[in-house]
Amino acid sequence: MIKISEDRFKVYEQNYPGITEQILRYEAANLPACPQCGAADTAIVIGALVGRTIHLASATTKVHLTPNGSSQGTYYCNTCKAYFNIPGSERNTEAKTKPIFSRPSDNSWQAYRAWVLSFTAALTGKLADDTYSEDEWKQYAAKFWSTDNNKH
Ligand SMILES: [Zn+2]
Repeated sequence: MIKISEDRFKVYEQNYPGITEQILRYEAANLPACPQCGAADTAIVIGALVGRTIHLASATTKVHLTPNGSSQGTYYCNTCKAYFNIPGSERNTEAKTKPIFSRPSDNSWQAYRAWVLSFTAALTGKLADDTYSEDEWKQYAAKFWSTDNNKH
């Protein structure tokens, strides 16, 4: 469920270019129901507390942040407040083997692009579309590194 107004989307988008699309992709994600209580109000767990993920989690109930990494579970039930995994699910396996949602490997715009795309791909389960030009990526990367550097 979307938790923010249309006006907030504009503010978020100014601060984190591309975040609207990310929020909508999360929102559209087909998540498993909670195996404990059967509720469909579940979320994907992200173990990275950075500006962008915090804004994602504040925008949709389908994102749950944890400072302890996603080792507690791949999914989170908003109803019984419990983490859970779906054994044998593809996303589950992928989350364990790939260090997604970490940080870009260096401060180049290429690393930033690879990071954002892998982030998106991990959420949607399919390859992300690269809809930005090289210049746009450079701008976003520069903004990311200038605003996010001192928060750790
Ligand atoms: Zn539950």
